[in-house]
Amino acid sequence: MSKEIRHIAHWKHPLVLRDTGGSFRCDGCSCLGVGSHFRCDLCDFDLHEFCATCPPAATFAFHGQHQLTFERSGLGDRATCDLCEQSIQGMHYSCRPCDVCVHPICSQLSATAPSPMHTAHTFVLAVGAPVPCTLCGTSCYGRYQCVPCNINLHPRCLLGTDVDARKDAAGPAFDESISPILLPTWQGHYAGASAMIRMGHSMADLA
Ligand SMILES: [Zn+2]
Ligand SMILES: [Zn+2]
Ligand SMILES: [Zn+2]
Ligand SMILES: [Zn+2]
Ligand SMILES: [Zn+2]
Ligand SMILES: [Zn+2]
Repeated sequence: MSKEIRHIAHWKHPLVLRDTGGSFRCDGCSCLGVGSHFRCDLCDFDLHEFCATCPPAATFAFHGQHQLTFERSGLGDRATCDLCEQSIQGMHYSCRPCDVCVHPICSQLSATAPSPMHTAHTFVLAVGAPVPCTLCGTSCYGRYQCVPCNINLHPRCLLGTDVDARKDAAGPAFDESISPILLPTWQGHYAGASAMIRMGHSMADLA
């Protein structure tokens, strides 16, 4: 028996956990995803597994001072995710007093991560006032940071999901149509620290 749920975002039919191969667009958060997810074939309705099952409130290490609240609808045109910087057009987690807002899937980024670019310390994911990214130079609200060494990296820069880095990649084939929004998916690829090594980044890039 495949796993089946009822979800308030699609109450007409049950959603079945399936892997249709390739990518899909989540009808909850409007972000792309790949792999196993909840789907209604009749209506071509898809939800990330996490978007379908995430709790109504949760505390995440990147904003440990407050609980974030799950909201099912978007915030209007101007809202962008503090972690991936893509627009928010549906489900998200927010802390309204602090104006912190993230996609559900982005909230699942690892709280800490190693990087072959800086092996002395482990990077910690944080959201705060903008600082320049050490790798790409543009400002970042959400970043993996090494405070003692003053190194800040966009999640996409640490994970090697930015388009420019991907163009040079000698690793698995990259689909340019897949946006950096796939961070948690890329995190899976990143496990074992092989992805960034394939990207050819090294400490020299930070010098
Ligand atoms: Zn989603
Ligand atoms: Zn349906
Ligand atoms: Zn995001
Ligand atoms: Zn807050
Ligand atoms: Zn960057
Ligand atoms: Zn350091």
